[in-house]
Amino acid sequence: MMNFEDPDPMGEFDVIRRFFSRKEFTPSKMRPDLETPQNVLLGIGDDCALLAPPPIGEVFAITSDMLIEGRHFFKDANPTLLGHKCLAVNLSDLAAMGAKPVAYTLSISLPEISPAWLEQFSSGLHTIADHYQCQLIGGDTTAGPLSISITAIGHVAPKQALSRHLAKVGDDIWLSGSVGDARLVLGLRRGEWQLDIPWQEKSFRMDAPIPRVELGLGLRGLAHAAIDVSDGLLGDLKHILNASHVGAIVWIDDIACSDLLKDVSVELRRLCTLRGGDDYELCFTAPRKNRELITILAEHLHLPLTRIGEIITPPDGQEIMQLLDRDHQPLPPDLTKQYLKSFDHFQ
Ligand code: ADP
Ligand code: MG
Repeated sequence: MMNFEDPDPMGEFDVIRRFFSRKEFTPSKMRPDLETPQNVLLGIGDDCALLAPPPIGEVFAITSDMLIEGRHFFKDANPTLLGHKCLAVNLSDLAAMGAKPVAYTLSISLPEISPAWLEQFSSGLHTIADHYQCQLIGGDTTAGPLSISITAIGHVAPKQALSRHLAKVGDDIWLSGSVGDARLVLGLRRGEWQLDIPWQEKSFRMDAPIPRVELGLGLRGLAHAAIDVSDGLLGDLKHILNASHVGAIVWIDDIACSDLLKDVSVELRRLCTLRGGDDYELCFTAPRKNRELITILAEHLHLPLTRIGEIITPPDGQEIMQLLDRDHQPLPPDLTKQYLKSFDHFQ
């Protein structure tokens, strides 16, 4: 769609040709776990892209995420990291479904055509796309306030999809990696709190999240339900509980966090680990009988996986989530209520 009013020296089609359409798709590394996609029959440059059907027995998994300047990222955000993050958050949704990435589209509105900005943005985007072998197959480019919308496509066998409604009473609740650093960094940048420690080295947790794609694939057949932690661990876990009509016990002081967060006050640590968003770890439920296989998977992926609670029958007339402290004693109800509030874009 053409609507740049004052044609810059470089127009819309030059932008697409120079920064987004690539002669060939160049996976940066050999990834035996993610075979080279042959699904894309026709990529950028026509009215539509053409995608072959997924392997027999699998279906497409499709997800969209939009990032708006001033809401999801700061005005002066590093363009390379921004390119990475836009795709990472979408790949994280595919991971949380156990889907293998195939392709994505990019719709972007730009306040101006800055070749330097576009060069960096597209390099961040293409690097992570190559790493996960996910090919850019089309999109839209228009003038407007900076906003970026990506739709990512993957595939998974429907029986292995880690849907939110599949948690079962008796399941363990697991969490990958550690959570809370992204929220800690956001608060430091916004001046919500000050810390006299070298927190800048944790900025990547907010700026360049790693989507847990390999974990999502490894959990096929092992886990029941999964969600990626984008809006806050407890709020996101609650989506699984509501969809599955179950309750949960969560040992909140067993949740893995970085050494940096171990050194802050209990209150700040809990705020960041329980309610902080943007970590993009996977929270999943799995039957107890799979504990050993999940531990082996963690070693294989060099990614710590921690048990943080259990799925229970929803308690009558109480919060569906019971939060237990370090000694596995229940927290006071008002504190539980406070911790259960998740980040809501319209609040
Ligand atoms: P149309 O007018 O048919 O919508 P466009 O002029 O918007 O086509 O786009 C031309 C081609 O470039 C299409 O194949 C479209 O998918 C692709 N394209 C446009 N913008 C982007 C982008 N930001 N990233 C990737 N491909 C894009
Ligand atoms: Mg268009």
